[in-house]
Amino acid sequence: MASGKIIFMPLGGAQEVGASCYFLKLGENNILLDCGCGSTHGIKFTPQFSALLNTPYLQDFHQVSHIFLSHAHLDHSAALPDFLELNERAAVYMTDLTREILSAQLEERFARIEGNISSVAFLQKIPLPHLKISFHQAGHIPGAMMTLINFRGKNILYTGDYSTFPTQLVGSALLPPVKIDILILCGLHARHPNYRRFGDSDSALKKILRKIYFALRYGKSVYCQVTQISKGVELITLINKFLPQAEIFIDDRVMRIVHRFENVHIPIMREQNHPLSAFPQGPHVILSTRPPPMHTGLEILNGDFSLHDDFAATVDFVRQVNPKICVVVHSPPDKIFHSNTTLEQVLINDPDSRTSFIFPKTGEPFEL
Ligand SMILES: [Zn+2]
Ligand SMILES: [Zn+2]
Repeated sequence: MASGKIIFMPLGGAQEVGASCYFLKLGENNILLDCGCGSTHGIKFTPQFSALLNTPYLQDFHQVSHIFLSHAHLDHSAALPDFLELNERAAVYMTDLTREILSAQLEERFARIEGNISSVAFLQKIPLPHLKISFHQAGHIPGAMMTLINFRGKNILYTGDYSTFPTQLVGSALLPPVKIDILILCGLHARHPNYRRFGDSDSALKKILRKIYFALRYGKSVYCQVTQISKGVELITLINKFLPQAEIFIDDRVMRIVHRFENVHIPIMREQNHPLSAFPQGPHVILSTRPPPMHTGLEILNGDFSLHDDFAATVDFVRQVNPKICVVVHSPPDKIFHSNTTLEQVLINDPDSRTSFIFPKTGEPFEL
């Protein structure tokens, strides 16, 4: 008789951000949830795929049949070509928009893996042996999906990065209308009780907008470097909305994604937006994925910001889902306030919560 065991093991991106990749064994089915890269001090790293071969769960990478890719951010997607070199047969599922953004980001590395990829739509169901799988809107960035897996009557939801608030480009996450038994949560702020999102005066986005506003007002130009191409697009829409007079010059990588969004009817560009090759004049904003040039007199800005639920929203989300088990990943410790308060400690005191929590380490397998 086939085994009904559920095994979960992070290969990266457990109690940290970067190289998100989670192995899920459902009976005979071996699945990867996401396949991203990380970097520390500028040095790139991939998930610890080989750790799998040291477990009793897998003898050969070809036993991994399916990969579900939540969204196009590099910490969830950029190691896909590396894994497909180990297993050229794995079938990869992602939304059309994720595929578009990924192809612009991975460039020639994408062409080599395109044959493995199938596009899926929200609410589409795919049947696999002993599994029913469907995909749901995750908010966060265009194309981001949650993956719901039904295995032997149990519902397992992998959130990927998600947001329960609408952003400039996407609506909020839409939970599937079923009872969730196991929640695999990308809980970026699950251990940051003091972190509050946009709306608070500290929010990174407001700071960026305020700095741009003052620089332009005093006749200066701004060079804003973004870490992720899709965040560049988000910033363009924000600047267009809140600083409509600002002239924005956009680098070729961000521009490529802008065109892809516009192709699928997400309008981004306005008259004040130009390609960087158009020789900026007068006070302006440059949005680029590349490091700023030296000695230019431009005001340099870090364009990084969060598109994740804050601590309070994370608690509310898990309270609402109320799973039996919540596996928290993508969840770095609180390096600013060194607080030890987690999502778990808040919900343990909630009489209506039935959830027990696991904060797994990379390479640590759990039977769920
Ligand atoms: Zn993300
Ligand atoms: Zn992420």
